[in-house]
Amino acid sequence: MTELATRLSPSGPRESDWAAAVAAIRAVAPAGKVLLICHVNPDGDALGSMLGFALGLRQHEVGGLQATFPGEFEVPEPFAGMPGVELLVPEDQAYADPDLVIVFDVAAESRLGGLVGRLSVARETIVLDHHASNTGFGGIQLVDPQAAATSVVAEQLLARLDVPLDARIAECLYVALATDTGSFRFDMTTPRVHEMAARLIATGIRPGEISRRIFDTRPFGAMKLFAEVLARAALDPTAAGGHGMVWTYATLEDLRRHGQRPYVMDALIDPVRTVAEADVAVLVKQIAEAEWAVSLRSKGAVDVSRVAIAMGGGGHRLAAGFTGHGTPGEVVVAVRDQLDRFLI
Ligand code: 5GP
Ligand code: MN
Repeated sequence: MTELATRLSPSGPRESDWAAAVAAIRAVAPAGKVLLICHVNPDGDALGSMLGFALGLRQHEVGGLQATFPGEFEVPEPFAGMPGVELLVPEDQAYADPDLVIVFDVAAESRLGGLVGRLSVARETIVLDHHASNTGFGGIQLVDPQAAATSVVAEQLLARLDVPLDARIAECLYVALATDTGSFRFDMTTPRVHEMAARLIATGIRPGEISRRIFDTRPFGAMKLFAEVLARAALDPTAAGGHGMVWTYATLEDLRRHGQRPYVMDALIDPVRTVAEADVAVLVKQIAEAEWAVSLRSKGAVDVSRVAIAMGGGGHRLAAGFTGHGTPGEVVVAVRDQLDRFLI
């Protein structure tokens, strides 16, 4: 067994880890600085778990509290109205010398970009995550691979800090939970997930309104972009040991032509993965010249996190990603070469 496998208990963090996290937060002096960080290109779980936790921490009267993420300081439009966004600062304005750093939804240090140095400066770091591929970085690890979202771990830590849920915290945690469960459709939609959703909804939040804003609203140009990108999808029924692969790609030029920002492509994998003839769906999204953010999804025949790890990325069994290089065709050939190796 690898060191990581022995450290990541399937039942989640150990009691001693929870206690260490609570103690580290309580130990922050009234004038102390707490810096919360989530992953690059933040999604609903990254921002929702971080901002929900931040709003809860505010009740603790820690001295200074900032939330940030690496890279360009652009909050995707659907999240712009999320409670707690006022706590967000660009990476270059984040505390250079935080006392405590808390990291959300980050499976590997590479996802922290230029902020990774803050972890060694801080007196203590706490990592809240749910990726089985988590590399085990940071001081106190609250990593629960059984948790459907990082916000599940965040809610538990708030409870252990005796922070009651209010509607603002709940909205953030709900966005995170709904994002990572595909609106309560994916396999990890357990009784525990619905119980948590019930606690969140009981605070008075409006799930219909939140879902419409987060998942079901996009500019007209985004719809036209989707139509074009979906029209160039290709199906390879022989890939993945005959389980089939469907793939497509979107370039920065496509975005420019339709006047769209990169985050709109995050939702594009969803129509691609509906294809009945393919177990595996691949979306190759350009981030720079010859550089592509690759999204992988499986319906169960392939552990795509192992494909992603082999390509230098990470994720979950049925949803993973990595950064690819070359042309989209070259990236997809590389994925295709890996798929047969990791059939479940
Ligand atoms: P998405 O395709 O939605 O961007 O990501 C799916 C899953 O794969 C998420 O859990 C995300 O954290 C993970 N993932 C995506 N890209 C990368 C990457 O470049 N590196 C790592 N370690 N994980 C990634
Ligand atoms: Mn997540």
